[in-house]
Amino acid sequence: MIDNFGRDINYLRVSVTQRCNLRCVYCGTEIPDAKEISANDISKIVSAFAKCGITKVRLTGGEPLVRKDIVDITKKISNIDGIKKIAITTNGVLLSDYAKPLQDAGISVVNISLDSLNRERYKKITGFDLLPTVLESIDVAEKVGMKIRVNTVLIKGENEDEAEDILNLAKDRKIDVRFIELMPFSDTGSNEKLIVTGDELIKKFDFLEKIDTGNSNFEKSVARYYKAEGFKGRIGFINPISDKFCDGCNRIRLLSDGKIRPCLGYDSSVDIMPFIDDEEKLTQEIEKIILSKPNGHSFNCEYGNFHAMNKIGG
Ligand code: SAM
Repeated sequence: MIDNFGRDINYLRVSVTQRCNLRCVYCGTEIPDAKEISANDISKIVSAFAKCGITKVRLTGGEPLVRKDIVDITKKISNIDGIKKIAITTNGVLLSDYAKPLQDAGISVVNISLDSLNRERYKKITGFDLLPTVLESIDVAEKVGMKIRVNTVLIKGENEDEAEDILNLAKDRKIDVRFIELMPFSDTGSNEKLIVTGDELIKKFDFLEKIDTGNSNFEKSVARYYKAEGFKGRIGFINPISDKFCDGCNRIRLLSDGKIRPCLGYDSSVDIMPFIDDEEKLTQEIEKIILSKPNGHSFNCEYGNFHAMNKIGG
């Protein structure tokens, strides 16, 4: 469906939980007893979204794999008419066991968040000594044939020096590596001095060559992709701070408590649960919410509006 600013909103991010099994320094504190809507309700809402033109769904969190019914949620979404692609964003801690069942249920793409290849540092950033577990998950996901993307947030003075090692994950394996600019922290807001911009990295890695991803590529609006000679995977840059991609934004978010959030950069959301048992009304309300999507996000000017990433899934 086309919104008020001419953007085709076809991508729904579904945060299935606010719970997480890691405590990343930049992400936000977990709210343990936050409400989680059921797999059935998620399915009803995604069906209504599909009627409004959503074709791609990404499951996220919190950590989506801490939900015991994640495979069931995936299967239900797979069966919805109009949904062509389902992806998941995970920290990879539980992925070894879930990769095959999730793939069988319909997930084709897995984004794995990984901010360090150094065990001590991984522990410092995430709070847990689980780097080997995550690396094993990447192997398993590769073996079952999922399309893998590694997402990394670089922070000045923390893991910036690992950019090249992480980039090299795309060298011998068909893994896309994407660097995401650090967004404002959920608690203190401003963190501008810690941001490593996409431009800085592109300058540093001057062997990268821009890829024209064309209009058909779903990620065109958010990631700028590059290739490097001899690399099997691509290198992507997601620059929400230095290169606002709001003009091409095609996404909308369903939060784990049944609220819909039109834009990541604004704290406003609409509770859709009062309409959950009336398909027609649900679809009408979703249409209205899509039409209320703002023109652009406010990260650079209204830090106070920022909502903890653990609630919304990035
Ligand atoms: N638990 C899953 C994971 O780790 O991928 C999904 C949710 S997590 C919030 C989604 C992504 O948001 C992760 O790649 C994480 O690095 C990113 N993220 C969290 N806080 C961020 C921040 N302040 N700036 C940039 N990215 C952030």
